[in-house]
Amino acid sequence: MPSKNFSDDLSGQSPFKAETYQTSGEMTEPDVQIVTSGGPRIPAHASILASASPVLESIIDRPRKHQSSEKTIPILGVPCDAVAVFVGFLYSSNCTDEEMEKYGIHLLALSHVFLVPQLKQRCTKGLAERLTIENVVDVLQLARLCDAPDLHLKCMKLLSNKIKAVQKTEGWKFLQDHDPWLELEILQFIDEIESRNKRRRRRREEQNLYLQLSEAMECLEHICTEGCTVVGPYDMEPTKNRGPCSKFSTCQGVQLSIRHFATCTKKVNGGCKWCKRMWQLLRLHSSICDQPDICRVPLCRQFKLKVQQKKGDDARWKLLVRKVVSAKAMSSLSLPKRKREEEANETTNHHGIRSFRL
Ligand SMILES: [Zn+2]
Ligand SMILES: [Zn+2]
Ligand SMILES: [Zn+2]
Repeated sequence: MPSKNFSDDLSGQSPFKAETYQTSGEMTEPDVQIVTSGGPRIPAHASILASASPVLESIIDRPRKHQSSEKTIPILGVPCDAVAVFVGFLYSSNCTDEEMEKYGIHLLALSHVFLVPQLKQRCTKGLAERLTIENVVDVLQLARLCDAPDLHLKCMKLLSNKIKAVQKTEGWKFLQDHDPWLELEILQFIDEIESRNKRRRRRREEQNLYLQLSEAMECLEHICTEGCTVVGPYDMEPTKNRGPCSKFSTCQGVQLSIRHFATCTKKVNGGCKWCKRMWQLLRLHSSICDQPDICRVPLCRQFKLKVQQKKGDDARWKLLVRKVVSAKAMSSLSLPKRKREEEANETTNHHGIRSFRL
């Protein structure tokens, strides 16, 4: 096929302006032809191509059979217009959003094959911005082939969020027929994300439970020390009169439990569930309390003595105690700074005990 003029082939779509390309003030003629699918040729400058892509450089430097013959570089398998945009990028390090929209997939493949990292980066970003339920499977496959981990991850995330919708697309049906391994990989990824979320949820729920217990401990202690409107007071000092408890619902629950515990006729041995719960709370307090001699929480000393006689609590109970203590520590760490300082002052006023006001 005779070499045609570039502007004949791709009128109005010139990837670069050859006439503006100058070396040391002088215009140079294109010295290489890029052969594209369907025949059209794109004239270009070997030096520009070689400096932009090491792969093109090695093709250009390859010895030819006939020294006199014209240098040609075949870039086949992608639309000719996409090749034109690619060559344009090699000249200008730039392409328009419109070009990215139209040829992003081809440009990513070209940038990978010809080792043009700048363009690859641009495509990875451009394609990630244009991901849709319709194209995500295709882009995922391409991201795998072109070794684009960021884009791959973006695709996987979209897939895991919208799998129901994606499964209705043509792309997915094609994948099921032609690449069952990739289908498996995607489903496994989704499964992992789900179980990770489940684990996280369970951990959060657990942490909440320990935090509630830790709050209950605090309330139990201040109810028994300072009294409250319903239970006690033991020895309310007017100077210690503080505002209402910030953990109102927990506090109310503990107060009701204390009241019940004092008046129940069934008691723990009679199998009362509420009494049993209160009993556990009192035991938990005793395990945490480090001032049993002056402590006013019921049964605190008795539990301590019992533990000493039995030579230690069982391991599961110890674990529970540790988790409640650390839940308290965690929650005070996540408080805003000012609040934390207030709490610190407050606790140092109370005999310098950090964790619980006893
Ligand atoms: Zn309270
Ligand atoms: Zn009871
Ligand atoms: Zn105590």
